[in-house]
Amino acid sequence: MNEVKANMTQDIRAQYGLRPVINVSGTMTSLGASIVVPAAVDAITRVLPQFVEMSYLHKLASKTIAELTGAEAGFVTASCSAGITLAVAAAITGSNLLAIERLPDTGGLRNEVLIQAGHMVGYGAPVEQAIRLAGGKIVPVGQATKASAYQLELSINERTAAAVYVVSHHVVDHGQIPLRTFAEICRARGVKVIVDAASEYDLRKFLEEGADVALYSGHKFLGGPTSGICAGEKAFIRDIYLQNRGIGRGMKVGKESIIGVIAALEAWKNRDHAGIRAREQSALDLWAETLADLPGINAVIVPDPTDNPLDRLKVSVDPEEARITVWDLAVALAAGDRPVIVRDHEVEHGHFYLDPCNLQPGEEHIVADRLIEELNRAQQSNEIISSDLRLRLLEGEAAILNWLD
Ligand SMILES: *Cc1c(COP(=O)(O)O)cnc(C)c1O
Repeated sequence: MNEVKANMTQDIRAQYGLRPVINVSGTMTSLGASIVVPAAVDAITRVLPQFVEMSYLHKLASKTIAELTGAEAGFVTASCSAGITLAVAAAITGSNLLAIERLPDTGGLRNEVLIQAGHMVGYGAPVEQAIRLAGGKIVPVGQATKASAYQLELSINERTAAAVYVVSHHVVDHGQIPLRTFAEICRARGVKVIVDAASEYDLRKFLEEGADVALYSGHKFLGGPTSGICAGEKAFIRDIYLQNRGIGRGMKVGKESIIGVIAALEAWKNRDHAGIRAREQSALDLWAETLADLPGINAVIVPDPTDNPLDRLKVSVDPEEARITVWDLAVALAAGDRPVIVRDHEVEHGHFYLDPCNLQPGEEHIVADRLIEELNRAQQSNEIISSDLRLRLLEGEAAILNWLD
């Protein structure tokens, strides 16, 4: 017992030889998502050795989800991605138990799923694949940078089962059909509107704007265990739940995830949003001051692209002056025994972001020190540190095949 207690205070990463990563890239599956809130950790730990009646636990989660989202009901699944698959499945099968067992064979059933071309994104896997897993047939609406209401309306026919709408920084940010219009058109024709709002803090807005079901990740901003949250109309949520007798079996969550989500949602109600915002702001200010007078560096605080209450520091690097490219700086920061992982999905534009929402107390200072260290090192370099981005990208793609080496 004492040994267990002693172990709990030790960083488990040291025990297993895992690098103690500092996450300034955001909530990333590849880094273990988010810091699970203490209330969820506690609930998970306490339920693990016990038996529970799972259908009641699911019902309890439904109540909690309903309370926070304003929906009639809710369901917890393995991930938001699983939520997309199961919601599409539910739209295809309804409550037909035999059809549920037959999926992904959709013979004789409505199975077309509409999605705007600008929403066909990847969040680590293609959103279309999450739809096809349920037997859904993708029907793209519009072109990547332009979709119109008439294109959606005229794509609906007697085979249309659902329409998926993605809210995310990943999607094309202009020329898309507003959710309200999208939902009005679909719902008037009996087409289920499934909104992927995996990373969005607002638990009510998308349902208010007409979603039949809004899907969230439990392990992102909420700080719950790896899970997905479905919130929506009662009969539709029941049909999603029923998928656990079919393709949902492989996407099931255990008692620990369900209770963990309940605890995380309850903690969300009492979360000190202003206090957390202030702490994030002070990290951003510290980094902005740290970088203020460094040659070739321009740092500005920018808002979240989908209006989540979250700012980031956009760090632009002029390689001539800074003597390092922004992608080489990102790689240098990620090396060593205190790896700092930045938000680097736009490095070809000459910038990365520092995201303060997943910091442990004090880590902002290590980030500042590492920035100074690597930028000073670059200043002293005889040549500009500049690798070929094109080759770097190809190497990155090839590396996945050598994962075990
Ligand atoms: C993260 C994300 C997902 C996937 O969520 P998981 O819960 O990790 O499956 C889906 N859609 C969008 C827009 C996301 O950002």
